Amino acid sequence: MSKCQICHDENAPAAQRCASCGAWLDVPASSDESSGDGSALAASTRSTSTPPTPDDPLEAAVVDLMRNSRKIDAIKRYREATGKGLKESKEEVEEIARRYGVASHSGGIGCGASLIAAAAVLGGMLFVAGQLIPPLRP
Ligand SMILES: [Zn+2]
Repeated sequence: MSKCQICHDENAPAAQRCASCGAWLDVPASSDESSGDGSALAASTRSTSTPPTPDDPLEAAVVDLMRNSRKIDAIKRYREATGKGLKESKEEVEEIARRYGVASHSGGIGCGASLIAAAAVLGGMLFVAGQLIPPLRP
């Protein structure tokens, strides 16, 4: 059984997403919990409903930078602290950001573009509504 990290519902072993809340089930199905590579521990200590606050100062700094859309600085900070390579640091930073619910955009362009698109659609709908609904007569 794959237990949901979010709502603690049991899901089918093959399920990738929780049937109850739609959360991704990242627990490997029927794997040995004492594999001891640290990832199982990290998964079990992952909080369920409390606001995500990293215990690790480095992760906290990375999350803070990512929340301010400063991904480059976050990667730089991570590299300086761990001495890992650029690619590895980038992946780790993205993983940390994902874990704490920070969207890791490579730039703000996509986000802004979708906002503009949404505004355009909304504007169009209002325009159509204005054409369809006849003005009230006094
Ligand atoms: Zn769930």
